[in-house]
Order: sequence, then structure tokens, then C-alpha cells
Amino acid sequence: MGIKIIDHSVGSTQTGVSSWSAKLMLTCLTVFMFSCSPNNNGNDGVDTTPKTPPVPRVAAPAFNADSAYAYIKAQVDFGPRVPGSKEHAACAQYIQDKLKSFGLTVTVQKSPATLFNGTKVEMQNITGAYKPERTERVLLVAHWDTRLMADRDTSRVNEPIDGANDGGSGVGVLLEIARIVAQNDPNIGIDFLFVDAEDQGQPGGANETWCLGSQYWAQNVNSEYVRTVKYGILLDMVGARGAVFPREGTSMYYAASVVEKVWSSASQLGYGHMFVNSVTGQTVDDNLFISRYSSIPCIDIVHYDPAEQDYGPFHHRHIDNMDIIEKSTLDAVGRVVLDVIYNEKTK
Ligand SMILES: [Zn+2]
Repeated sequence: MGIKIIDHSVGSTQTGVSSWSAKLMLTCLTVFMFSCSPNNNGNDGVDTTPKTPPVPRVAAPAFNADSAYAYIKAQVDFGPRVPGSKEHAACAQYIQDKLKSFGLTVTVQKSPATLFNGTKVEMQNITGAYKPERTERVLLVAHWDTRLMADRDTSRVNEPIDGANDGGSGVGVLLEIARIVAQNDPNIGIDFLFVDAEDQGQPGGANETWCLGSQYWAQNVNSEYVRTVKYGILLDMVGARGAVFPREGTSMYYAASVVEKVWSSASQLGYGHMFVNSVTGQTVDDNLFISRYSSIPCIDIVHYDPAEQDYGPFHHRHIDNMDIIEKSTLDAVGRVVLDVIYNEKTK
């Protein structure tokens, strides 16, 4: 997860975009308030719109948090997944093997990239497609690389982190969802996209030093494919004990209706205490570049503590290890995403 918030109202590390992002923030809040209006038809409170009976929600298949946890541990057991390392290569193979074992169609998009420190690496964006022939699809995304340094820590700052939550958790939850989808047809196509080099950005540096894999993917994605994708959901840091997921500002800017859909599902499932309704500033994460460059509206379910105005005490520190991963958090996120995709209507 890129650390930067591109809105000064929540403690920005970014300069030069304050008025722009403040305007975006205002727009987001306005849209949000209107969307909450219970009756906007101008009939003095008498709702004359035709009533259609509510469509009963489909019960999604069960999410297995033990399985998701095991997928996270398997990644962490390789060691830090920093691009260019043998641990990174081993994990790339692991993700591909898992997706293939579920019967998904796996493609790997490789590209050379130069990190902010001049290191040249090869990125690998890995996709597992469920029913690739279907023309109504949802894109599920997580980054699978882990940060090359612990720049928010006080010791071993130049050593890479385990990234159990930042990187590992999103991949673990998506692999478990992929396993379930392959066994229980949701009637739509699903693409599981694991992007590389999200977390190798320069501390305090330009936004474009982050999310290199998703930038490359979104700038090279086939436009015919894009037309089949209704929306994207990014999972980032979705496994920590006590996680809180506010409505993230970049998601609200590009895909407010998708945020509403997902947070409404969470509320109905009893997770309103985790999927809270406060809106954060705009963060720099893979959903920003996917939304901007591919035009697929993509949201971010990302751990952010509004009270602390921070991503959590583990963020880019060595304590981001298996000790902070909580199965009940994985379960909540997994159940919400499954509920959304199994209730997606086809034409
Ligand atoms: Zn990160």
C-alpha cells in the first residue's frame, strides 16, 4: 500500500495538489450526501415511484478463513517478496500454481521496470480468469509484492518486511475466493489480478513511483476486455486484527456506486463496524491507476484508521508479520466480496 494521501485534510505528504484534491473531496462528499437522500422526487415527501418488490439476496457460498490464512502463511514462508529476489520468483510460481490447480486460465504479463532507487527488475502481473469467454465480468485485484524496506520502523529500516498484511492478506483472500468461485458458478466471469511492484515506491516521492505493475497493466489492457468489466475491487491490507475500512477517497471519486454496493453488503452482513461510512482522503493505490488509465471503475478495500489518520501501526514496519493476521478479519472481507459477486445481476 502506497503511504501517500493526496488530500491535505487528512495529513498529506503530497504538495502541489491541495486545491485540486480539496475540490475532488468536496465533490465526493456532495455525491455521497445526495446518494443517501431517501426521497428526491420533489413530491413533498410522498414517494410516488413505482414499487418493485425487493429482490431476495442470494446466499453466497461459505468463505474459509483457515484456507485464506494458510495462503498468507505460504507467501510469508517464502520470505519478503521484493521484485528481483528469489523469494519473489518462488511466490510468483506459487500463485500461478494455485490458480491453475483451481482450473482458472492463467496468464503472466512480464515487463522490465526501474524502481525509484535505480534498481532494474522484471515485474510479473499474474491473472487467473474464471470463464474467460463471459462478457459480463468483475475484476478482483491485490498486489503480491512486499515492501523493499521498513521505512516507517525504527530499526532495520533498510531490510524488507514480511508483508503478511501489506501484500499477503489481499492475495490470501483472493486465492480463497478463486477456489470457491471455481467450485460454485457465480454466473459472471471473474478475473483475479495479482499486480506486482505496488509497494516499491519512493518515500515522499512522486505518486508514479508506486503501483508500477497496475500502471503497466492498465496502460496496456485490451479495450475490448475493458468493455466486459463492470467494476474492480482491490483488496489491500485486509487481514489485521481490529481492521477498519472507511470509504476511500479515490474509490469515491471514480466509483462511488461500487463503494455503496460493497459497503451496503457489509452492513447487511453485520460488518458495519468494520466497513465504516466515513470518507478518507484520496490514497495512492492500484485502484487509482486502474481507474485512471483503463477506465474500469475500481474501489479499494484498505485498512485505514480515521482516528489515527494512518494505515495502522504495522504499516511498512517489521511487525507486519503473521502475528497481526486475524482470521475473523479475513472472514469478514471474504464474505463481503463473495456476497457482492454472487448477487451481481447478469443481463
Ligand atoms: Zn504498502
